[in-house]
Amino acid sequence: MKLSLIEDLHCPACGTRYSSALVQTVCLNETCKSSLFASYELPLAVDPDKLFSGRPASMWRYHEFLPVNNPENIVTLGEGFTPLLPLRNLRYKDNDNQVFWKDESGNPTGSFKARGISSAVSKAKELGITDIVTPTAGNAGGALAAYCAQGSLNAYVYMPRLTPKVFKDECRLYGANLIEVDGNIADCGKLAERDAIENGWFQVSTLKEPYRLEGKKTMGYEIAEQFNWNIPDVILYPTGGGTGLIGIWKAFDEMEKMGWIGSRRPRMVAVQSASCDGITQAFHQHELSSQFVDHGFTIANGLRVPKPYADKLILKVLRESAGTALSITDQDMETALKEIARKEGMLIAPEGAALWQAFKTLKDHNWIAPGERVLLLNTGNGYKYLENINI
Ligand SMILES: *Cc1c(COP(=O)(O)O)cnc(C)c1O
Ligand SMILES: [Zn+2]
Repeated sequence: MKLSLIEDLHCPACGTRYSSALVQTVCLNETCKSSLFASYELPLAVDPDKLFSGRPASMWRYHEFLPVNNPENIVTLGEGFTPLLPLRNLRYKDNDNQVFWKDESGNPTGSFKARGISSAVSKAKELGITDIVTPTAGNAGGALAAYCAQGSLNAYVYMPRLTPKVFKDECRLYGANLIEVDGNIADCGKLAERDAIENGWFQVSTLKEPYRLEGKKTMGYEIAEQFNWNIPDVILYPTGGGTGLIGIWKAFDEMEKMGWIGSRRPRMVAVQSASCDGITQAFHQHELSSQFVDHGFTIANGLRVPKPYADKLILKVLRESAGTALSITDQDMETALKEIARKEGMLIAPEGAALWQAFKTLKDHNWIAPGERVLLLNTGNGYKYLENINI
């Protein structure tokens, strides 16, 4: 098989198709402007265990379902194929569920942003792009800086001034141009866009570029492979821009088409910070899109996204999967973070810690039934956030 089976891109809202051999952003249909999805020539009758056996323990083991055609363009630091860890000591109530962490904290630059950025930077390199810009709440900027260093591209990172120092320092150390902004990620986005247009830089803002989604999609392939193609009943996901949630769902769709999994799907749960809970509100009010919601600082900077660009796609996944959405306060995230550290020996990001609190809430409401297998995605490394935690 070819390195990549990519065919083209399509708009999931209006169906328009776009060439993957050209630089693309979002759907050009003015009334649509949806994020674009990559389409692949999905093979039938391939045994995934045979296909992947002996391949490197990184997300590029799934290279057929990633967008890069020439191996020389792959910019990798060994991201992905992260461990699946059963909860051993943390207990809640009757302890009648099997609960697992998929622990993304060991990724390069300490978060799962490495996956999306590895894919986006690689494809950008393949398309001849030399300068890349992103607005970020922290982790995407560090990842962009590192992968641009590895791939010899120039990175421009727009980050809120109030982000913990380590997120800024890593960008500088990796040689990126860091622009500190007085405001939130939405303000960063506006400035980044203005400067990108003026200087001809390529923007990789969440879901305004098609290939970060493809990198994050590999979490879905890994979940299936690591659960021996018998995927869990419930997946909790800390939702900022929603790339991982949409990506995992896309992966399940592709794998079903190839006959690797059946039609049964996990119920997908979006967990937000109480500071930015627009998706949670829209979900419970039966809306198709979300409002701009920003109540200021949260220790989970990755969740400070007042209005995700792909809000409609996030809400669609939650509904299609019979999932739900809920928001968690900073105080509860901090309590959960400490409990996980003491009981499990894992110092995880507040975004990930929010999921443990969300799990308890969903158990209290009997939304998660006894016996169901539950997966929590710890998206980042707690060591980067110590400045924000009262120890
Ligand atoms: C960016 C980020 C998130 C949110 O991810 P999305 O795919 O944008 O929803 C969650 N956790 C951490 C640690 C992050 O850096
Ligand atoms: Zn469209």
